[in-house]
Amino acid sequence: MEIDNIGYFSCALCPHKCLVNRQKGQRGICGESAQMRIAWIGLHQGEEPPFVGDKGSGTIFFTGCPLHCAYCQNCQISQQKSPTGINVTVEELASLLLDLQYEGAANANLVTGTHFIPSIIEALQLAQRDGFTLPVVWNSSGFETVGGLSLIDPYIDTYLIDVKTLDEQVAAKFCGNVLYANNIRAVIAFLVHQHRQTFLESSGFLRGIVIRHLVFPGTLAATEEFLRWFAKDIKVHAWLSLMVQFVPPTGSIDLGEISSQEYDDLVMLLSELEIEEGFMQELADNIPWIPDFTRDNPFPAGFATPLPAFLELRNSRR
Ligand code: SF4
Repeated sequence: MEIDNIGYFSCALCPHKCLVNRQKGQRGICGESAQMRIAWIGLHQGEEPPFVGDKGSGTIFFTGCPLHCAYCQNCQISQQKSPTGINVTVEELASLLLDLQYEGAANANLVTGTHFIPSIIEALQLAQRDGFTLPVVWNSSGFETVGGLSLIDPYIDTYLIDVKTLDEQVAAKFCGNVLYANNIRAVIAFLVHQHRQTFLESSGFLRGIVIRHLVFPGTLAATEEFLRWFAKDIKVHAWLSLMVQFVPPTGSIDLGEISSQEYDDLVMLLSELEIEEGFMQELADNIPWIPDFTRDNPFPAGFATPLPAFLELRNSRR
């Protein structure tokens, strides 16, 4: 399959549909050409428990992003021409995937790979040919197209995917455009069609779909709209991960805080809607840091371990 021809020549891998020729170095809103770039790879303890295993989730942070959320914690690597990433070939990514497996990662966790889908597929194919067997998690903002997801879906075991909002005004304020709200239902409908069940395997890995929703303070009506939609159409197929605490970078949007009364109201609503499978962050779980991708380990000590082979590659490119 000539995947490059599908993806990069007239790029419509995300809903922006920029139609630029990334093979020729052109860049759309995601800020990336067809040259895959990666900011960090390592074992990460910060995902939902079924993805962490004994040693951590094998997390791969790609640079660039089609969304430009006002509160992005990863703005060092998601904004255009991020200097923190390095060029990585598909052969090198395949080798790094095998290194993650060798280091005992519970899975390969691909973070914001939407705009590099063709390269990721090639790398996964090469790695699998050479013995890569880890489950693969697609960790995404949800700003996807059914066309792009159709390409990557055969390689994905679990989607760890945001539904930030269904509301156009909230999308415009927090995600930078209304396209997000107009597109997300179709994305989740496609995933549910492909993966009708979410369940824990005997290994402890969670297969299927986990929908993450961050509650934006001051927009609880939009969260209620999301939860009612989730309960009605999605909950028999997917688990929920509800997040209530988040620290945006200094100088970006001020999210404010959820009050204890609002938190209690959310717990009551989950009960009323009989949403039982999933995860809910405690108010006290607030962690006052943001990643610093200029460091070997962008996360607090004990929270993540860099993959030595990635650091070696990164040092050789600098
Ligand atoms: S992936 Fe990038 S270039 Fe392609 S449509 Fe989206 S923003 Fe535009």
